[in-house]
Amino acid sequence: VVPLDQLRTEWKAALADAGLNEATVRLYPFEGEGAGEAGAYWFRPGDKLAVDYQFPDAERVEDANAPENRNLHRVTVWTGREPPILSGRLRHELEHARQWDHHGKALFDLHDLIEDEVLPHKAGGLQGCGGTFINFIPTEQDANAAAAMFLRDRYPEDLLATLREGKWRNLACSLVGPESLESLPKRMICFAYQFRDRCAQVEQERGVPFQQILAWSYDGAAGIWSALEKSRLQPAQISGS
Ligand SMILES: [Zn+2]
Repeated sequence: VVPLDQLRTEWKAALADAGLNEATVRLYPFEGEGAGEAGAYWFRPGDKLAVDYQFPDAERVEDANAPENRNLHRVTVWTGREPPILSGRLRHELEHARQWDHHGKALFDLHDLIEDEVLPHKAGGLQGCGGTFINFIPTEQDANAAAAMFLRDRYPEDLLATLREGKWRNLACSLVGPESLESLPKRMICFAYQFRDRCAQVEQERGVPFQQILAWSYDGAAGIWSALEKSRLQPAQISGS
């Protein structure tokens, strides 16, 4: 278990690393390891939160929903893990806060579309597999890359090498920080295209063209999708012999 003062130190460092003002984020620590895989969760500003495994405390959920807190970033974390995992998780969740501050709801509607509707057709319910695909969503890759840079600055390499051999390796598996924040929405759309036929299943379920669903998040998204659909590839002619 990480003592509270160490948690506070890691939290402040993670906030500074993410360039976030402490007053815009509210942290809710829990003891133990938590019921979910992630061990930390970020909640969208404005959303009304409910008691569940991501936030299992009615009194603190009420605090998180109070008018003065509801529009803040809210993060839950379980402290029953060793420091590098805990630090990495804090920084990971704060990267989502940074992504939100830059791109807002539209980006996270894309995220939810991919995580909740597209990827379940690929590996939903396959124990130990579904999370692999979720971790490759660009919002998650970037959050893990941010965590990896934060850990590299704060912990010895041999400790991180051990971390990379275990279940939480995603927090330390990058040589570089996030790809550009600016390009994130486009990268989300290109990621969805890697599961193009699963997207067609979503289209059938909803009875709406997939590019229309994308267009509800971003003007221009449908254009990217149809460009991918319309382009025809021919192997390049190689001159000479
Ligand atoms: Zn995440």
